[in-house]
Amino acid sequence: MTIKKYLLAPGPTPVPPEVLLKMAMPIIHHRAPDFIPVLDEAKNGLKWLFQTKNDVLILCSTGTGGMVGAVNNFFNPGDKVIVVNGGKFGERWTKICQAYGLNVHEISVEWGYSVRPEQVEEALKKVPDAKGLFMQSCETSTGVYHDIEGVARVLKNHPDVLFIVDSISALVAHDIKTDELGIDIHVAGSQKGLMLPPGLALVSVSEKAWKRAESSKMPRFYFNFKKERENLQKNQTNFTSAVTLIIGLNESLRLLKQEGLENVFKRHARLAHATRKAMEAIGLKLFAKDSPSNSVTAIEAPQGIDGQAIYKNLRERYGITGAGGQDKLKGKIFRIAHLGYADTFDVITAVSGVEMVLKSMGYNIKLGTGVGVAEEILMEA
Ligand SMILES: *Cc1c(COP(=O)(O)O)cnc(C)c1O
Repeated sequence: MTIKKYLLAPGPTPVPPEVLLKMAMPIIHHRAPDFIPVLDEAKNGLKWLFQTKNDVLILCSTGTGGMVGAVNNFFNPGDKVIVVNGGKFGERWTKICQAYGLNVHEISVEWGYSVRPEQVEEALKKVPDAKGLFMQSCETSTGVYHDIEGVARVLKNHPDVLFIVDSISALVAHDIKTDELGIDIHVAGSQKGLMLPPGLALVSVSEKAWKRAESSKMPRFYFNFKKERENLQKNQTNFTSAVTLIIGLNESLRLLKQEGLENVFKRHARLAHATRKAMEAIGLKLFAKDSPSNSVTAIEAPQGIDGQAIYKNLRERYGITGAGGQDKLKGKIFRIAHLGYADTFDVITAVSGVEMVLKSMGYNIKLGTGVGVAEEILMEA
């Protein structure tokens, strides 16, 4: 037998069998009547999940496509914007904004830390005519959950600044109330918390942002949000709908509803907590210093051991696919996700695998130490 696989990466994540089965049904046509109730259900389910009364656009692309649309539908070249950059994905906002000619003022956050609301206040003083603020809720590359509630409080006093949040890895794992926080453009993707294959970007847009869109003159064709919105009102999408993924989405929304949103958030918090405590019990340090996310745990490789080798050994010896470090963190950290279709024994598997790999690499460890700690925490539930 080839090695049994365990997907514990921060995207793509495992897909539940119920969802896979729904997606195995024959393809339906996206302009035929069969599809209307399917899209209607998805549309309403997404409002529930995003905790918004606004429309959530359903785009056939990866999450980054949603990020691009969040830039080129609402701004003009030369517009001043603020980007919170605390890792690879913060950097991506900067790159997209610059590709479209925006004038980016970066809040540079040390990797491993959350942005502080005072930093946002300071930036807004420096750039009083800023038109938007871009950030991540979960910065997947560092395992940090940024203080979006703190930032939201600051932005309440700056009604001219659009608040744009990439929650591609945070939605479902964290309770992010789109409307209550005043998030104007909120981006998610299918292959993370939503327990689906890659291929959908989901973007909620506030009335304030739609007003702003009227004055945006950037070139656009594929990601034309205004047209997507008009189509969505007719339970259609602009181009061919990703019918299979949308059918799967309805099933994953059904599973989430069955569990209840509060319980979904609690489960992610519990799994993340157990993972962190287990890693600390075996003497490892978390990379996220002040605000670790409930989606993914970034762990520092111990002195003298290559983080990339830990990641590689987990996969090659035990079939566990986590993630390594990106960019300057390559070799320094490895990451384990507990996101989406994740439960007790995903954590046990990960912790056990890490212990076995570290021991084989010469790290001084008593096997079962972290597993025991994780078990204690997970049994309390
Ligand atoms: C995964 C991820 C993305 C990129 O999504 P793609 O689907 O690969 O385009 C963007 N931002 C964050 C925070 C992510 O975790």
